[in-house]
Amino acid sequence: MSSAEEAKLFKRIQKRLNNLAKLKPYYKDEDSKDIAEALERSGFSRRDFMKWAAVMTAAIGLPASFAPLTLKAAELANRVPVIWLHMAECTGCSESLLRTEDPGIDSVIFDLISLEYHETVMAAAGHQAEKSLRDAMKNYYGRYVLMVEGGIPKDEYFLTIGAQGRTGAEEAREASKGAAAILAIGTCSSFGGVQAANPNPTNAQPLSKMIDKPVINVPGCPPSEKNIVGNLVNYILMGSLPALDSFNRPKWAYQHRIHDLCERRGHFDAGEFVEHFGDENAKNGFCLYKMGCKGPYTFNNCSRLKFNTHTNWPIGAGHGCIGCSEPDFWDTMSPFEEPLGNRLYSTAYAGFGADKTADTAGIVLLAITVIGIAAHAVASSVTKPK
Ligand code: SF4
Ligand code: SF4
Repeated sequence: MSSAEEAKLFKRIQKRLNNLAKLKPYYKDEDSKDIAEALERSGFSRRDFMKWAAVMTAAIGLPASFAPLTLKAAELANRVPVIWLHMAECTGCSESLLRTEDPGIDSVIFDLISLEYHETVMAAAGHQAEKSLRDAMKNYYGRYVLMVEGGIPKDEYFLTIGAQGRTGAEEAREASKGAAAILAIGTCSSFGGVQAANPNPTNAQPLSKMIDKPVINVPGCPPSEKNIVGNLVNYILMGSLPALDSFNRPKWAYQHRIHDLCERRGHFDAGEFVEHFGDENAKNGFCLYKMGCKGPYTFNNCSRLKFNTHTNWPIGAGHGCIGCSEPDFWDTMSPFEEPLGNRLYSTAYAGFGADKTADTAGIVLLAITVIGIAAHAVASSVTKPK
C-alpha cells in the first residue's frame, strides 16, 4: 500500500468508527456498557489493551499505525449486534473462544460484544430462546453479523432445532436475509466438516451452499480465537468483506502455508525427521512429516497466532498438522498419522489427495509438490543416520 492509499484508508476507517460511535451500544448489563472499563475490571490494563491492538492490527494485515483504530474498533464492538447459530457440530469453535485456560482479551471482548443470540451461552431456552432469535433478527434487520457454526444437512429433517422443530437449513436461510455480513465459523460451516465426510449420511453442506449471500469462511477445527475475533474486528473496521482466497477464506489469516512458517522447517530442510512418537528425534523437536504432518498442504496462521491465549499449537505440542482448515480434510488428509506422500504408492485417492494451494488449482503442480516432499523425506531417510 502506498502512503497515499494508507492515509486514505485510515481516514475512511476513522469516519466509519466515528459513525459507529454515534450508535447506541447494546449491552447486557451496566458493567459491560463500556468495553474499555470492563476490560480493566477484568484485570487488563490500558497497556495490555494497546498491546493486544498492536498484535491484532498486524494479524489482520494493517500497518502498525492503524493500531489506535483497532483499539477503537474493539471498544465499539457492542455497536454491532451478532447472531450466532449452531448447526450440526460439536461446539468446539465456541469452546475455542470461550474456554481458554486464562481468558485473554479476545475472549473477554467476545463476552462484551452485543451477542444477541448464542445457544451455548444464553440463559433462555425453548420458546423463550426462539423469541430472542426472532426479536434479534427483526430489531437489527440489515445490521447484524451472522456467525454460523456447523454443517447443514441438505436432507433437512436430519437437523431440527428448538421448540418449534424448525430445520437448521430454515434457520440459516431466514437469519441470512437480514445479515450485514455472514461468517462461517469453523470447518463444518465453511466446508461441511466431519458430518460431510464420506459417506455423508445427512448430505451435510457448507453454509455457502445453503444460502444465496456471500459467506466469509473462517475454517479450522477449531479456528483460533484470534481468527474468530479478528474477523469481527476486521468487519467493524472496514464494514466490508476482506480480501478472500479461492476458498473464500480471509487472506490475512489463510494466505500462508503452515509448512513455510513452521518452527520445525529447518529440520525438514536438513532431513531430520521424527520416526516414531516419543523417540529421541521427537525430543529434539525434529520435523513431523513422517508422522503424518499435513503442514505442506495447509493454509492457516496457527504457527504465528497459536491457540489458548497464544499458549501453543499442535506442531509445537508434538503432533503433525492434520490440515483442518482445508476443504474435505477428513477424507483427503487422513490417515492423519501417515504422510500424504504414502498415497503415491497405495491409496484410494490416486496419490493426489487434498493437494491444492490457496490461489491456484494446478493439480499437476501440486502432485509434483507431494512427490517432491515425499521424495525429500525418503531421500533424507536414506542419507541420514537414524
Ligand atoms: S512437515 Fe510439518 S512439522 Fe515438518 S516443517 Fe512442515 S509443517 Fe513443520
Ligand atoms: S496446525 Fe493444522 S490441523 Fe492444527 S489447527 Fe493449524 S491448520 Fe488445523
